[in-house]
Amino acid sequence: MVDVVAAWSWEVRGGIGFWRVASLEGAGCTAVFSARLGGVSAGPYASLNLGGGVGDETAAVAANRGRFARATGLPPATWASVRQVHGVGVARVEAPGAYGTADALISSAPGVCLTIAVADCCAVYLVDPVRRAVGLCHAGWRGTADGAAGATVAAMAAAYGTLPADLLAAISPSVGPCCYEVDAPVMRALQAGAPWSDEVLALDPARPGHARLDLWRANALRLRDAGVRAEGVSVAAICTACRPDVLFSHRRDRGRTGRMVAALALAAG
Ligand SMILES: [Zn+2]
Repeated sequence: MVDVVAAWSWEVRGGIGFWRVASLEGAGCTAVFSARLGGVSAGPYASLNLGGGVGDETAAVAANRGRFARATGLPPATWASVRQVHGVGVARVEAPGAYGTADALISSAPGVCLTIAVADCCAVYLVDPVRRAVGLCHAGWRGTADGAAGATVAAMAAAYGTLPADLLAAISPSVGPCCYEVDAPVMRALQAGAPWSDEVLALDPARPGHARLDLWRANALRLRDAGVRAEGVSVAAICTACRPDVLFSHRRDRGRTGRMVAALALAAG
């Protein structure tokens, strides 16, 4: 059902390591995901922390953003961001800048770089090669339970006439089913919001009221429910908690950690 293709490829440029999503880039955009390598931040933010407001030095974050931008060809002046709150709000973004509270961005403007910051949550990338539009969504357990990815598909359909069957999608590294133990309130939210919750919650027989959550499969199912073809979805299947060498993890690092950035831009010209 979920096509885990070799679309997520690792690349190092100028000492900066990042992933590139080849299946989306073949459709005329830049689609990348940062790693923690090659930056200037210290301690729990070492070294390429791209997230502001997490306790790291502002100057270090700016320097890291500059390095990541040079490596990926996505200048910070082209970035668009939102204040993420684990909701399902979608911001339509046709110019760079800081937008208000939302957990997804959509755009049809070439060269505008959509960004979402994560440290265990999924980023869900969407590319419509027919209407020439893109979307990028933040989905942790709450956003996944509430249908953030489907809301982003619906927003692209309303704004750009996107047909879900035309979409190509990708699901970023996040905390994986190997490491994501959730408790009863999270289980109840998913059970209330998703008819297939038993497919993504592996109950722990040794710990009643606990389960392991597969965010990758849950978001792939959200996309399927929204009409996206399964063969159009590329799942990174890389667990943040399992990879302290390259990824920040909010859970593993007990909340004191940096952020990766998912970035998606339609090619200019
Ligand atoms: Zn893991």
